[in-house]
Amino acid sequence: MAHKCFISFKTQDHAYKKYIHDELDVDMIDKSLHEPIDSDDEDYIMRKIRENYLSDSTVTIFLIGTKSAENSFFENQSFIKRELQASLYHGVNNTKNGILGIVLPDMVNSIYLGTNNCLTCGGSHSIVKIDDNTVIKEFSYNYYIPNNKCAWSEDDRYCVLTTWDNFCNNPNYFIDQAFDKRTHAISVSTKVRP
Ligand SMILES: [Zn+2]
Repeated sequence: MAHKCFISFKTQDHAYKKYIHDELDVDMIDKSLHEPIDSDDEDYIMRKIRENYLSDSTVTIFLIGTKSAENSFFENQSFIKRELQASLYHGVNNTKNGILGIVLPDMVNSIYLGTNNCLTCGGSHSIVKIDDNTVIKEFSYNYYIPNNKCAWSEDDRYCVLTTWDNFCNNPNYFIDQAFDKRTHAISVSTKVRP
């Protein structure tokens, strides 16, 4: 069964969203948050985003491009932050979405940095630079959920990560992985506002 997806992306990555919509067999909601919701009540904001934008989606796809850390002083935009918070929000009459991060081609060399030898276990770990320079905290925290170990296995993560090329080869495989996290044991360890 296809799971309905909401796509969170920066304006400059619109072409990738359009490609998913036009070319891939993905069941998606074609909306994104462009206007801030005027309220100081965080729970109200989360509920409104869920109702107006996420509606019946169960997976949020986060396109990771060069602006996805939302850390520029010159652009006061925090739409993907809000969209991810609302996706992770677990409230009355809604359950949180699975989160699938897709590393866009421009970011592959900034995120996948090879491997290093671990002094703790003597093994070798992949270096995947998911941090405040590459993504918003809502993604990095729930990808690297603190675990007191020297590395993370797939079971230690809530967010699923892949590259644009891998995603295009088999979109529903990765969407299913993110969907299944919603009922996985790790889902109790997520944070909405890390
Ligand atoms: Zn190790």
